[in-house]
Formats: sequence, structure tokens, C-alpha cells
Amino acid sequence: MNLFGELAARFSPQVMGYLQEAGRLAAKEGRYCYIVGGLVRDLLLGWENTDIDLVVSGGGITFAEEIAARWGGRVVVFGDFDTAKVLLPAGWAIDVAGSRKEYYPRPGALPQVAAADLREDLWRRDFTINALALSLGPEDLGKVVDPFGGLEDLRRGFIRVLHDGSFRDDPTRLFRAVRFGVRYGFQVEDRTRRLMASAVEGGLVCCVSPQRLGAEMRKILAEEQVLPMLQMLADFGLLRAIHWALGEIDWALLRGVPSSLRALHLPCHGFAYLAGILFHQPLEAATEAAERLALSGAEQRKLRALLANWRFALWCLHWPNLRPSTIYDVLSTLPEEGLALLWAYSGASPIRERLIAYRERLSKVELSITGSDLVALGYRPGPSFGKVLRKVLRAKLDEEVATREDELSLADRMMGQLTKEDP
Ligand code: ATP
Repeated sequence: MNLFGELAARFSPQVMGYLQEAGRLAAKEGRYCYIVGGLVRDLLLGWENTDIDLVVSGGGITFAEEIAARWGGRVVVFGDFDTAKVLLPAGWAIDVAGSRKEYYPRPGALPQVAAADLREDLWRRDFTINALALSLGPEDLGKVVDPFGGLEDLRRGFIRVLHDGSFRDDPTRLFRAVRFGVRYGFQVEDRTRRLMASAVEGGLVCCVSPQRLGAEMRKILAEEQVLPMLQMLADFGLLRAIHWALGEIDWALLRGVPSSLRALHLPCHGFAYLAGILFHQPLEAATEAAERLALSGAEQRKLRALLANWRFALWCLHWPNLRPSTIYDVLSTLPEEGLALLWAYSGASPIRERLIAYRERLSKVELSITGSDLVALGYRPGPSFGKVLRKVLRAKLDEEVATREDELSLADRMMGQLTKEDP
């Protein structure tokens, strides 16, 4: 099989020129150079993918430096793995790796690597459909190398590991199997399914570092079909295997996430699902789960704010005749994803109307005055500035002040009072 035409249809003549030159250069030095992994798979499936991963013999970093020097690019080297990224002037990036085999000292550990031939390089990969290579050599440009039946599995729609020790070597492949299976509508082949079940039962997920687990979960949460992926992870016991708190799922809530994000015009969907999974959990358990996934400090703070405040916010939103400033006070304690989850969870239209009012109107209200205006009025900066400006904002939300002059005179009166109370 030859994929040159498909490749040329997807990339600009300039990038095709780079790729062909890389192949020629490698051949001149007696090396080989292949495109590997996801791009070959997605070329065959007709899926969007423009990430170029090259495998070369005779050292990945040296080759990356060579092509970068020729094309005026820059090289970023990735430590121990003989891999590097070539950043090209036109904004393109190409990943280059030395052809290698891997040895896993223990489950979940990062592999030790040694130079090897193409077949061994493909053997270390996760699934047959990801173990395909496309030659860039001038002699056989575009030819697909398929030592493990990847083409047949792509045709029949199977996710299949290359060997029985695959999940033991790297348990993150459990998550990748789910991601690729659902993304392409492929079946996990029977033996692979059994190996997955026994890897989960054997507790292999515990061996994976929070950083690697978090990275795999982020990829899943960023996928379009995140819900069926989460469902399949749950069916395999993989969410519970990360942390028990991730195993107790309110599916009705999660199913409501896409429509609530749409209703509130919110783009950020991945974190909303994760927060949705942890929505009913006590803060402590959710924090442990977040640490297990190596969430960033900012993400953990967002999650804590959401879990600590949503119940009170929901309770408040039930009351009739709320002032806009009260709705603002209550909902501004939540991150955007919290609004979406409240929307999905409440189901009640008066609450939803208030969520929309907050999102579309109240959260956008800003004062026309700042601390500098208070200084111009002769006040000395201090904590009272913040207090007064917040109160003026509330008055604006409640439509008690309209113009900049109104804001200024209210702030002046309030400052005057405070200064009198606390000279
Ligand atoms: P995506 O479309 O999600 O980016 P991809 O296959 O390009 O899919 P990457 O994570 O970029 O995914 O990996 C590139 C290639 O590296 C894979 O196709 C696979 O051959 C190999 N690979 C990546 N992760 C693993 C892993 N954990 N174990 C074995 N091989 C892996």
C-alpha cells in the first residue's frame, strides 16, 4: 500500500518538500526515515491529523539538529529518549525520534530505551493500528510498513495490543484503548479486553504516576465523545481504579453538561466533566482525586471553590424576589463550570433563568470608577476602597445607580461615612 497521494493532499507543497528532503537526507547517510503513529492511522481513516512524528535510524537528536540547521528551524530536545521537536519557521513542528526499543523496569515506570530497528520500534507501541510506518525514503516514498496487522485491524475496526505484557509495561494504555476505541467506533478485541480486565483487577493503575494519569485523562476530557469514553472507563472500572471518588458518578448530571454549556455559552468542557464526576463528593475525597490526577494549583482551587459553594448557591437561588446583587454575590463564588453544573443539576427554570441572567448580564457589569477616582476625591488608599467599590457595584447591579456621576457620589458618601467611623 502507498499513501503518498493522501499525504500530499493533506500537507502544503512546502511541508511535503521538507518531508521528502528529510527522507533523501537520511538515505544519503544510509539511514531510514519513516512517519509513524497517529498520522499514518488517521491518513488511512481519513481523520484530521497534522502531527508529524518521524522515526529515523542512527540517532533522533542528531537528525533533528541536521534538518533544523538546513531549514532554519530550532530544536527542543526531550532528555533521555533520543527524541526532539524541530520547530520550523513557518510555524510547523515535526517530532523526531531515534528508532528504539523499550524496556520497562516495572509497571507504569518510564521505559529504558536502546537503539533498535524499525520493527522493534513499532513493537514497543500501544496498539496495532498505531504501529504503522510510512516510508519517506526516495526508493519507496509513501510505502506503508505494517508488521503486526494494523491495516487489517483498521479495516475491521479493532483495538488490539501487540503482546500480552502491554498493559503491564504501561498501564496508561488502558486509557488509550478506551480513547481510540470510542473515538473511531472500534471494538476492543477480545484478548485485549481480557488483558485490560486483568490489568485493572491486578491494580496496575496504582503504578502510574499522577502526571501520566492526569495527561491521559486530560486527553479523554478534551475529546468530542467524552461521555461515552467516561462510560467505558467506568465499565472497565478504570475511574474507580484512579480514585474511588471518581467511580461514583451521577450520569444524569454528566449527560446534562453539553446542553448546559451551550445554554450558558461556555466553551470549557473538559474540566466541567471532571468537576461533574466529583460534584457530590466531600471536599477531602475530591481533593485526593484531583491530586491523583496532578491537577494544577489553579484547577484545584477552582474545584474546591465549586464543591464548597454550589450547595449554598443552589439553596439561595430557590428564593423568590432575589436582588440581582445577591444573585451576583452567590454565583461569583463559583467558576464557570460550576454554573454549568448547577444548570444541569437544578433542572428548574427559575434557577436557570437566574443563571442565564448572571452569565449574560450581571457578571459583565463593571463600575465606571476605580480607586484612582477615590484618590482624586482626596481619600487615602486602603482596604476601605475595596469595600466601598464592591458596595457601589452592588448598587449598580440593583440599578440604584446608573451614571458615572451617580457611582462617584455614592462612593464619596460611603467613603465619607467610613472615614467618619474610622478616622
Ligand atoms: P492522537 O490523535 O490522540 O494524538 P496519537 O496516536 O498521535 O493519537 P500520541 O500520544 O501523539 O497519539 O502518540 C503517537 C504515537 O506514539 C502513537 O500512535 C503510538 O504509536 C505511540 N505511543 C504513544 N503513547 C504510547 C504508549 N503509552 N505506549 C505505546 N506507544 C505509545
